[in-house]
Amino acid sequence: MAKYDYDLFVIGAGSGGVRAARLAALGGAKVGIAEEHRVGGTCVVRGCIPKKFMVYASEFSQTFKSAAGYGWSLGKPTFDWGTFLTAKDIEIARLSGIYVTNLQNAGADLVHARAELKDAHTVHLPDRDATYTAGKILIATGGWPTLPENVSGIDLAITSNEAFHLKSLPRRILIVGGGYIAVEFAGIFNGLGVETTLVYRGANILRGFDNDVRAHVAGELQRRGITVVLGCEHAGLEKTRTGILSHFAEGHPVEADVVMFATGRAPNTKGLGLEAAGVKLNEKGAIKVDEFSKTNVRNIWAVGDVTDRINLTPVAIREAAAFVDTVFNDKPRAFDHEMVASAVFSQPPVGAVGLSEADARQGGRKIDIYKTAFRPMKGTFYGAEERMLMKLVVDAETQRLLGCHIVGDAAPEMIQLAAIAIKAGITKAQWDETCAVHPTAAEELVTLREPFIEPVL
Ligand SMILES: Cc1cc2nc3c(=O)[nH]c(=O)nc-3n(C[C@H](O)[C@H](O)[C@H](O)COP(=O)(O)OP(=O)(O)OC[C@H]3O[C@@H](n4cnc5c(N)ncnc54)[C@H](O)[C@@H]3O)c2cc1C
Repeated sequence: MAKYDYDLFVIGAGSGGVRAARLAALGGAKVGIAEEHRVGGTCVVRGCIPKKFMVYASEFSQTFKSAAGYGWSLGKPTFDWGTFLTAKDIEIARLSGIYVTNLQNAGADLVHARAELKDAHTVHLPDRDATYTAGKILIATGGWPTLPENVSGIDLAITSNEAFHLKSLPRRILIVGGGYIAVEFAGIFNGLGVETTLVYRGANILRGFDNDVRAHVAGELQRRGITVVLGCEHAGLEKTRTGILSHFAEGHPVEADVVMFATGRAPNTKGLGLEAAGVKLNEKGAIKVDEFSKTNVRNIWAVGDVTDRINLTPVAIREAAAFVDTVFNDKPRAFDHEMVASAVFSQPPVGAVGLSEADARQGGRKIDIYKTAFRPMKGTFYGAEERMLMKLVVDAETQRLLGCHIVGDAAPEMIQLAAIAIKAGITKAQWDETCAVHPTAAEELVTLREPFIEPVL
């Protein structure tokens, strides 16, 4: 008789958990997986996918404006939030269903319930009063938005979770935060015709991205009609007869119909029974793992946002696949977290891979910068002022490409391909050998001949 009910029990059926459960089950392991909300996790249910649909919906307003320049005449376009929400929810249900089917087809046992650890080999499902034992356990419980405790009236605010289900489109929204989620939602609501204010306490939005990208995006958001307020700290929220009033440490209060905080996410570790199993957290409250995603307990691993390494869907999936290879396929491998490309689906969008200029310069390394900001061809017919930014960061000594940063239409699509070359470690000369594709915006990337020299003022 088997010593345990399962070879592997996975807690959390999001991007990482589903991939690990499916691959391990397909390989012949007996796998159980528990999900307390909906299968698919943050990405499918309240993250990447519904957000991208909202971006698509909101981009039409810009397209309508530009169409006139090309000879189109349209009546006054109108947008129906209810129609959009229904279509989005149908698609999310379909995708979640595919995840369920894939798990079942692979032979994994899916339980729709919360799971907690009782000890290093025992998982308890409190709502069902059921207990399972497992030889190995994978924690893939993701993260959850947090709200600041020191802001009075904070319960009046929503997070990204609720932004996907607003009963009606507000007339005015105030979004708090400078990270990619705040910036993306600012673009979404602005594109849908909502009067949008983005408030951030830092000096500029998109911390961690290249400084030229940050400045460029902030400028373009304002050009598109978003009010961007920087260096501004929230003191409190107050319900008024006409909306929600935001009070700040300095400056005038601002009223909006909806206030959305996108100021942080925390790893989902509360009440998981980690102490009972002896699993340690790091100083940021995330599960501490080694490069193979193994915790300090010999039969417990963790992948994805709950480990707070790079909190992106493809990373959670790759960590999960590496875990299965290491633990079940006798092919030990660690996912390489270097040169992971990422996108911000702001309007205009961003694609970035590798080091920012500031990071590359750290430690006194000499670097060459190649950059350009130009008006894309498409905008010429409707007099668009918008500019596209492209920037390459190159090691001056080895001539190796260290980073690529793009702001403008299709930047997320371009960066996926640029990342292949940069991850492969190619030099600027090799990059330049690639012949341009014409007429495209991307061709500018392979025709950046002269290093940028900072003008002396
Ligand atoms: C608004 C938003 C936009 C995003 N956009 C992008 C994007 O464009 N691109 C990108 O790559 N990433 C994006 N992300 C990040 C991405 O969604 C996450 O990195 C990814 O989902 C992490 O996968 P995961 O498996 O670690 O966790 P999750 O997908 O969060 O899955 C964890 C699952 O565990 C479940 N769970 C938690 N605790 C328990 C328990 N005790 N028992 C049972 N089940 C439990 C949760 O309900 C959840 O379903 C976005 C995130 C947000 C919030």
